[in-house]
Amino acid sequence: MRAQVLEAFNEPYRLRNIPPPASPAGQDLLIRVLAASYCHTDAVLATGSRWPELPRVGSHELAGEIVEMGPEVSSSLKLKIGTKIGVPARAYRPCGHCYECQNTDGDIQGFSVYCPKAKHVGLSINGGFADYCLVDSRQVVVVPEGLMAVEVAPLMCAGFTIWCALERAGIALEENEGVGKSVAIMGAGGGLGHLGVQFAAKLGCHVAAVEAADKPLALLRNIVGRLDSPTQDRVTVVDARTQSAEEVRNQVCGEPKEGFEGESGIDAVLILSDSQSAFDFGMKLLKNHSTCVVISFPKAGFCINAQDLIFRDIKIIGSLVGRIRQLQEMMSFVVRHDIRAQIRVHPLEKVNELVKDYHSGTGGKLVVDLSLSEG
Ligand SMILES: [Zn+2]
Ligand SMILES: [Zn+2]
Repeated sequence: MRAQVLEAFNEPYRLRNIPPPASPAGQDLLIRVLAASYCHTDAVLATGSRWPELPRVGSHELAGEIVEMGPEVSSSLKLKIGTKIGVPARAYRPCGHCYECQNTDGDIQGFSVYCPKAKHVGLSINGGFADYCLVDSRQVVVVPEGLMAVEVAPLMCAGFTIWCALERAGIALEENEGVGKSVAIMGAGGGLGHLGVQFAAKLGCHVAAVEAADKPLALLRNIVGRLDSPTQDRVTVVDARTQSAEEVRNQVCGEPKEGFEGESGIDAVLILSDSQSAFDFGMKLLKNHSTCVVISFPKAGFCINAQDLIFRDIKIIGSLVGRIRQLQEMMSFVVRHDIRAQIRVHPLEKVNELVKDYHSGTGGKLVVDLSLSEG
């Protein structure tokens, strides 16, 4: 089968002909990949700073069609040959016995995304930049009618991560549950951000969508322009190069009354950018007793001002991908509200051009459409 293989760190992918995966064992599924998208973590993988083993077929957010099922796939999952599924970066073969696997918080018994022994498709085992891929039947979601594979793939890491981060930020993921709440998204024009803006606004939140470069700001304005009018009115697009955090806070939350300055501010900020200045800007937007959810992980980490934690009672938490319940809820929300990633598609042969686009800050999501390369 064709596969785009990372053979050396900081080198381009190589298009190779490699043997397809063996028939699925246990609870595995063999899928024919229909679409696979590129995520920031693919760029991290390519640097060698976290996953040391190569060669590797990249992409951990994909969509495909089941061609073969392992003998132990549970019938409760309602999967069969031909079912179209989305594959998020949840665990592959978690151990089933550790603390995490025994405390699944609503996920399938014995399955946890936090299992330290689990593998990850596209990171520690081969992923979606290939004709076929092995996945764990417990990590996937059935694709609802009306969504194309190239639309599903970018939802599997980018969409799912930001969806779960909104819940971590204290916003219940149901219609109108965000009404009266405000959220700021730092890096709102990127792959996760532009989906997060749509989710949060459709949930009823006021959204400060913050960016600091021309291309992602243009993408953001385009995304916001496509929202219906009451939803659109809830989004404030912010250019952090020309606006101060204080101005933005007043614009979204109104001028504070004298003596109530600490109470005026945004309820939650999601940090998607790697930059310290974005982190600092986000912290300044928050009101006292609120939450900062960190989703980016720059190599050098973030510098935190302890005074924000002590005197303003700001909580800083992180967010990984989530549970099967959240994944299913996200898929039906996407269909109900017609939420789409802004995508640019490439054939499998052109993955290195896709990577170039990524590093030039094109914004939105870059997706390999496997059907484009069949001819
Ligand atoms: Zn485990
Ligand atoms: Zn990812």
